[in-house]
Amino acid sequence: MSEENFSRIANNLIATYGTNDPFKLAKYLNIQIVYLDYKAWLGLYSNINGVRTIFINNNLPKISQDGVCSHEVGHSFQPFKESVFMKEKFLFENNRIEREANVFAATLMFSRDIDESELTETDKMLLRNLEKYKLY
Ligand SMILES: [Zn+2]
Repeated sequence: MSEENFSRIANNLIATYGTNDPFKLAKYLNIQIVYLDYKAWLGLYSNINGVRTIFINNNLPKISQDGVCSHEVGHSFQPFKESVFMKEKFLFENNRIEREANVFAATLMFSRDIDESELTETDKMLLRNLEKYKLY
C-alpha cells in the first residue's frame, strides 16, 4: 500500500466513526489500550494471535499520547498477519513502515483543532516532526 492509502484510511475512519480521537478509534477497531510507565519508549503496537494492543507511555503529555496512539493505530492497517510487535523508541525512523504510520497519524492529528497554548515542548516537537508527513 502507498502512503496516500494511509491518509485515505485515516480520513475514512474519521468519516465512518465521526471522530479523529485515536483512542476512540482504537476502541471502535477493537484494539485494546494499555498504559505503561515507560522510561524511553513512546508506545508499542502488537498483534498476537489476533489480539491487538497499543501500549502508551503514560508519562507523555496528552497531545503527544494522541500522536503516538494515532501512529500505532496506523500500524494496525499494515498487512502483517500475526505476532507483530514493534517497539517505538523513535516515531520518525525513515523506513516505509514508519512513514506509513506517520502519514496516518499526521492525517488524524492535523484534522483537529489544536490549542497552541496548551502544548508542552514535547507536544510541539512531536507535531513539528509529524507535520512533515502531512500529504495535503
Ligand atoms: Zn511505528
